[in-house]
Amino acid sequence: MSIAQNLQKIKAELPEQVTLVAVSKTKPTEDILEAYQAGQRIFGENKVQEMTDKWEQLPKDIQWHMIGHLQTNKVKYLIPYVQLIHGVDSLKLLQEMNRQAARFNKKINCLLQVHIAQEDTKFGFDAAEIEDLLHSEEFKSFQNIEVRGFMGMASFTDNETQIKAEFNSLKNIFDQYKNLTLPHFKAEILSMGMSGDYALAIECGSNMVRIGSSIFGSR
Ligand SMILES: *Cc1c(COP(=O)(O)O)cnc(C)c1O
Repeated sequence: MSIAQNLQKIKAELPEQVTLVAVSKTKPTEDILEAYQAGQRIFGENKVQEMTDKWEQLPKDIQWHMIGHLQTNKVKYLIPYVQLIHGVDSLKLLQEMNRQAARFNKKINCLLQVHIAQEDTKFGFDAAEIEDLLHSEEFKSFQNIEVRGFMGMASFTDNETQIKAEFNSLKNIFDQYKNLTLPHFKAEILSMGMSGDYALAIECGSNMVRIGSSIFGSR
């Protein structure tokens, strides 16, 4: 099937409230244009240089999401182009994002990455760290940051029970903060689910899925 056909099939499966991020990392601009021509506007990348190169070459109404682990020394290159940063996993990164966003006179939208997988290779905060962070004086001072919700990645396993338990743990955190109003924070977005597990993620309450290989083919 073509990229356009894959997109159409996936979009038909997604409930109305679920936003699709088409993960285009490693894929050439022609592939992104094909998806663009089929109506897709939100694309996800995991490398700063690759995203900014693609930004230059592609239509300017594309919304670029940074979905990968972000190094603090790369933040300054990303700020002008990025719509949403999914994987914010440390206070140090937030500090640098706030500092650079201020230089560009912007407010940066981001999601806090929560460590839900049993594997310890995945990045993220735990529930207690999020609680401390959001209620800290320092977080209040981040005038150029808007935290819009949470992001998580389940373990890489075939065990659906385990995947569901991991997604549910993130949904619980999301629900806990959903009605809370704090400075620079509003939990609206729950980013979970990739090609292999997005159906389960949606069952567990995801409203943003990040799908790459099921649209663009394997990498
Ligand atoms: C690569 C990637 C995806 C997409 O993975 P697929 O299995 O190709 O759908 C989603 N989220 C993150 C954080 C990724 O790095």
